[in-house]
Amino acid sequence: VRECPVKAIKIINGQAEVLEERCIACGNCTRVCSQGAKVFLDTTSNMMRLLQSKQDVVAILAPSFVAEYPELDAPGKLVGALHQLGFARVYEVAFGADLVAAEYRKLILKNGEKGYISSDCPSIVGYIEKYVPELVDRLAPVVSPMVAMTRYLRLKHGDGFRIVFIGPCVAKKWENNEVDEHITFTELRELMLRLGIDPAVSEPADFHPPLGGKGAIFPISRGLLNSVNLPEEILEKKVVVAEGRVDFQEAIKEYLSGAIENTHLELLCCEGCIMGPGTSRNGKKYARRTRVMDYVYHKLENFNRDAWEIAMEEGESLDLSRSFRKNLQTLGDPSEGEVAEILRSMNKTSEKDQLNCGACGYDTCRNHAVAICKGLAETEMCLPYTIEKLHQSVEDLAESNEKLMSVKQVLKQTEKLAHMGQLSAGIAHELNNPLGVVIMYSNILLEEAGDNETLKEDLHLITEQAQRCKAIVGGLLNFARKNQVNYTEVELDELVRISLSSIVIPGNVKVSVINELRGGTAEMDQEQMVQVVTNLIKNAIEAMPLGGSIDVYLSGTEQSINIEIRDNGTGINETDLQKVFEPFFTTKGIGKGTGLGLATAYGVVKMHKGKITVDSNANPSNGPTYTRFTIELPRRRSK
Ligand code: ADP
Ligand code: MG
Repeated sequence: VRECPVKAIKIINGQAEVLEERCIACGNCTRVCSQGAKVFLDTTSNMMRLLQSKQDVVAILAPSFVAEYPELDAPGKLVGALHQLGFARVYEVAFGADLVAAEYRKLILKNGEKGYISSDCPSIVGYIEKYVPELVDRLAPVVSPMVAMTRYLRLKHGDGFRIVFIGPCVAKKWENNEVDEHITFTELRELMLRLGIDPAVSEPADFHPPLGGKGAIFPISRGLLNSVNLPEEILEKKVVVAEGRVDFQEAIKEYLSGAIENTHLELLCCEGCIMGPGTSRNGKKYARRTRVMDYVYHKLENFNRDAWEIAMEEGESLDLSRSFRKNLQTLGDPSEGEVAEILRSMNKTSEKDQLNCGACGYDTCRNHAVAICKGLAETEMCLPYTIEKLHQSVEDLAESNEKLMSVKQVLKQTEKLAHMGQLSAGIAHELNNPLGVVIMYSNILLEEAGDNETLKEDLHLITEQAQRCKAIVGGLLNFARKNQVNYTEVELDELVRISLSSIVIPGNVKVSVINELRGGTAEMDQEQMVQVVTNLIKNAIEAMPLGGSIDVYLSGTEQSINIEIRDNGTGINETDLQKVFEPFFTTKGIGKGTGLGLATAYGVVKMHKGKITVDSNANPSNGPTYTRFTIELPRRRSK
């Protein structure tokens, strides 16, 4: 994206796609992508088909070939190699450049006041047609050297042969269809390598006449206008030369603004054709430039001016004019609101959030946002935003991980309680009946004991202890949820009142009931729920030997009710907190606690399809100690 001068690269789902209608075929993307992900259209096989046909095929060779082939000690060796490949004749495009230079000279001398923009670079022509169509009539209406050469050959030799252009340019493949095929130097190199043709050891051959003159210099910057033979003063004062994707755009911008009025622009999209995308990579610009200059110098030293002038005269009858079309490709600018919205979505709400770091490929955050509006870019291309998003994801992940851990903990706990439930249900069931028998017979014996007081006392003890056992077994059955739930509509106020009335509340304990339900009712087994609330309040009292307060808090929604019982007693330490709902877990001395109070509460609440949870602080250094049990029940029984 950064390298494309016209932003013809669209990023979609992280993939770069070239938009043909916006592309000016500068070939820059094919050069800069180190992955080689972008390639230009390979036309070698088309050319090979031409060479294998019955017709003669001639090559017209761009003069930059001397820059591309530094390994050749004589330029004629490449001509020889081209004959080997099957070309009937090889011509120099340099002569076409001479013809074009003469046209430019006429044009500039005639219309000197009008500043022309050179039109020999097809990417520059594409740029102006697509992005600054208002300058189309400033483009010099002259064909390129390649086309001039083709027209000359057709004029001179007719139609009985095919013409292949070989040069450094990718955009030529799109430029014009008067030439039968176009291939680049890199394509030629690959092809010859494949066919085992090595120009370095080829028999040198001469170019076919007409030979080019000074025009051979046009592939370097200032080349075209230097070969035009303009008066010094025009060359010095009235020509601006700009090359490369940044500079040529700058020159056009200044030209448009009127800052460089009445000047001619010689513009090249690459840094001279010698650095074109169809040349080998890693070429040295100045070394290539020197080679072209040397070549032209030697050429002119042994120049047959007479033959050249005759050929130029022949060319005078040629029509070398061309026209251009406006083909606007600028996408409409989005509104300020749309741009601001996109910036906001990338967390850029203020000026200082816009770092303009350029990592996305656009100069500014704003330009990136505009491109997103136009559908050319994605928000993920913004590095700071993506990093921020990543951080957020890491945090989210850590959070869900933590949640998962605690759910796992709860699951483990629930599973353990379920196993215990099964075991205790079995024991309780087996013990329940024999205990009944023990109680019944000790009662019968008690009746038959008459006045025997000692016996009666012993029998009392047996009944009492057996009753206690039965209570424990009952608790176990409750925990194991083996009991029936007898649903009735229960007033919650009433529930709490009944529970409290069955407990002896010490004078130093204060109980307050806060009811946000205001007379709310719910469906439940009243007797069982009274037992739950009673157990919780008893525990709370037992946790406050020195007194304190208990808050009973009732709240709820349409669907559920909450009963919260909170005391400011000793609290439950963290290890015990895991175990309080287990049957027989107690911290109270032998004979004092059974460890069944909370197990029963747990079982009853589960039978009601509700939830009982506990939170507590037993460490005074973490703040006041407290314990809070929360019961959540559905308001209506599920059918
Ligand atoms: P028990 O009361 O017979 O010990 P429970 O099942 O009712 O059995 O309670 C289990 C244990 O949970 C208690 O021994 C006590 O350690 C702890 N516990 C329950 N409720 C509270 C509370 N409100 N404050 C402090 N500890 C409590
Ligand atoms: Mg208890």
